[in-house]
Amino acid sequence: MIDLRSDTLTRPTEKMRKAMYSAEVGDDARIDPNGQGEDPTVRALEELTCEITGKEAALFCNSGTMANYISLLTNCKRGEKVLLSANSHIYRSETALFTEQLFGLKPLFYDENKYGVPYIDDIENILQTEDISLLCLENTSNFYGGTCISQKKVDEIRKVARSLGIPVYLDGARIFNASVALGESIRDLCVPVDSLMFCLSKGLGAPVGSVLCGRADFIRDARKIRKRLGGAMRQAGVIAAAGIVALEHYNESLIEDHQNALFLAERIESNSKVSIDYQSVQTNIVKIDISNSGLTVQKMEEDLLERGLKVKSMSNRFLRLTVYNGVDKKQINQAADILNKYVDGIM
Ligand SMILES: *Cc1c(COP(=O)(O)O)cnc(C)c1O
Repeated sequence: MIDLRSDTLTRPTEKMRKAMYSAEVGDDARIDPNGQGEDPTVRALEELTCEITGKEAALFCNSGTMANYISLLTNCKRGEKVLLSANSHIYRSETALFTEQLFGLKPLFYDENKYGVPYIDDIENILQTEDISLLCLENTSNFYGGTCISQKKVDEIRKVARSLGIPVYLDGARIFNASVALGESIRDLCVPVDSLMFCLSKGLGAPVGSVLCGRADFIRDARKIRKRLGGAMRQAGVIAAAGIVALEHYNESLIEDHQNALFLAERIESNSKVSIDYQSVQTNIVKIDISNSGLTVQKMEEDLLERGLKVKSMSNRFLRLTVYNGVDKKQINQAADILNKYVDGIM
């Protein structure tokens, strides 16, 4: 079975397992006089995050979803308006934020091109006419198939937001993929935003966790919200240790993932039934448009599973194949063979 459903399928490396075994721990839900948790390994991960991103403070969270919840609840109060993409993970998945009976934030959407890059004029127009509390970006964009927003673009967006005093939050679940693909440092991609989170548990290969970072006062408030949501973890150094290893060694494996994704995209035969926009294959994700196949995404998902290939449906039109450390070239070849042969057989 070849499993290309998600890069969350990465398993901890031996180095990570060893670091986890010997991690020094404390009670991270208890706060020391500096406002940090008492677990030294979690603190080390948070400090390393600050070095890499150039942010003042960081907060280890159990998931990217949790980090997004914490960020929006720290940045906004009930009833306030958030400007974001209708195709963002925050809007599509963190749904309790925008449910009136739950957190009651109000979403407004900016327009974006077919690779998920926002139109600045549209953002500017909305920020000038609406009372917006927070602007959210996503880099890379999950829904658009791992597409990147360049540092230059992020910086232009920041200038508009800054001139109107509106903070910018980045869902950078896969910002390390963006950094590698764009050849721009993490720091350069993070400097223009006020706060961001990234996932350790996807392409970076750690078993659990995401890190939220930003200004020290923001993180102080975020730590309180994390506690109230039940997201404070006790001897979390055991998992943070793997996160530190992930941050120290990510580079080569992500480069290889991106090469493999491109190779996979090139091996899949685009035809009248399935097609790939090659320009969207920028990182570790291949998005296939199946809308002309005469089949539903669910049917395709099931049929491919029977033939030994697991993929994920993204909407009623797109299938997603994600490459990660642990999927080798031989498996990529097999996956392409299974898919090509299957598509050939569709009437
Ligand atoms: C995966 C993902 C998340 C959520 O992360 P989890 O750790 O799975 O909760 C948030 N945003 C984006 C863009 C993602 O791809």
